[in-house]
Amino acid sequence: MAVLLAVLDTASALGKDSGLDPWIAFRAAFRTTKDDPMVFEKVYSYNYDGKEYTDGAVSQNYHLVQAAELSQPIGFRTSAMAFISARNNMVHELGHVLTYNWSSKNLDNVPGGLLNEEGWPESPASANITWRQHPSRFDEGTVYPGEVFADMFLGRVYNKWGAGTTGDRRREYITDAMNSIWDD
Ligand SMILES: [Zn+2]
Repeated sequence: MAVLLAVLDTASALGKDSGLDPWIAFRAAFRTTKDDPMVFEKVYSYNYDGKEYTDGAVSQNYHLVQAAELSQPIGFRTSAMAFISARNNMVHELGHVLTYNWSSKNLDNVPGGLLNEEGWPESPASANITWRQHPSRFDEGTVYPGEVFADMFLGRVYNKWGAGTTGDRRREYITDAMNSIWDD
């Protein structure tokens, strides 16, 4: 269900951006066809960068997202909170997938001023990556532009931004980046 809603919400946002029917926009943005569709694969574990993971998800290529165990209710994290975080995880992966489909545009060439932990929407304390799915603390403080892009894509789909100038700049960057794919 989280995957389905992520796809629906992404298609809806792309439709608004492009003025196209949401499904036509989704297919154009992700370059899918009947014979070469987007695939979401449920896996027990996946490999990324030489390591095995049994939770979270990964975008393996321009049409393949693998999902292991997504966010679950635990402690003060309610089912509703876990569901939103799982859905957002999938939208974040679609952000990566988008960059793979538009490598010529360098969508994730994010300016240095945005490569930090400022200007993100607040997440609930017990589901603390809801709106920042891949914070730099996951990578010992290294901020990867691709991860920043994927989380700004998430912000774009739900029009959700942190307060202050950095939040505004994130919104401006991703708006321009998304417009650039419809210029073709
Ligand atoms: Zn990511």
